Amino acid sequence: MTEELIRTTNLVKVYGSGEHGVRALDGLNLKVMPGELVAVMGPSGCGKSTLLNLLGALDQPTEGEVWVAGENLARLRDVDAFRARTVGFVFQLHNLLPTLTALENVEVPMQGQVSSQRGRRERAAHLLETVGLGDRPGALPSQLSGGQRQRVAVARSLANDPALILADEPTGSLDSQSGAEILQLLADLNRSQGATILIVTHDRRVAQTTQRILRMHDGRIVSDHQLTDPLEEDLRMLAYSKLGQALLGDDGLQPGYLSREEEATLRRLLVKVGEAAGQTPKE
Ligand code: ADP
Repeated sequence: MTEELIRTTNLVKVYGSGEHGVRALDGLNLKVMPGELVAVMGPSGCGKSTLLNLLGALDQPTEGEVWVAGENLARLRDVDAFRARTVGFVFQLHNLLPTLTALENVEVPMQGQVSSQRGRRERAAHLLETVGLGDRPGALPSQLSGGQRQRVAVARSLANDPALILADEPTGSLDSQSGAEILQLLADLNRSQGATILIVTHDRRVAQTTQRILRMHDGRIVSDHQLTDPLEEDLRMLAYSKLGQALLGDDGLQPGYLSREEEATLRRLLVKVGEAAGQTPKE
């Protein structure tokens, strides 16, 4: 039996104490198998970042246990070494070091892990290739677009070939096209390298790239489903969208209700339904 890569049991995180304490996680149980690509969604403040911080050993739970790659994080002897070896982080603000080049930024986490300077250089160059930036090793962050900077951050997260990549709103600060490309890049890395990836996101397009969506509310997981059928997922997205809510509600549709994204989803859905019914949909 394959061991799960992540296991949390009754995870509780309370910030502060007494009546002012905030219960950010409220008895959260989660298992993730190696090679999964999981999206974590839910309203702001529901505990998504807190969960990622605990999984990455950036913070400690108030109660409960976190196991990652066979290690109980409360018992780590060297937390820094665990993070460097096992976890790659990608944040919304790509927090690259501004005075270092793209190549040097990717090398930073390899300090102390890959011993030779040449080995670090070569691996960093290879990782920049992997994220489609093989031609910009010498660029400073300020010379790159937001999407390119986030690509460097993804390459950096892969530096030590981590078992787990934690991405907190990786598309949050990007325009829609660059955001879609970063999601696609993470999905490709999951497929080609078998990386296990957790992505915290508000981006509904994530449903097209991930295999599993967790929805959180008030520090708990309120839904957890595997994506098997893209059509079913489109229907689910439609049901969660403003259009879906309006269709299901009593008020009916207002003009201008559809965003362009929703219209595209609806169109795609209708095409698929048409194909499933053996008809060619009208344009
Ligand atoms: P999300 O990522 O889903 O937006 P967070 O995990 O950031 O949610 O926050 C969950 C709850 O914990 C929120 O109510 C937030 O205000 C609170 N919180 C998060 N970090 C801290 C902190 N360092 N100190 C106090 N409260 C915090």
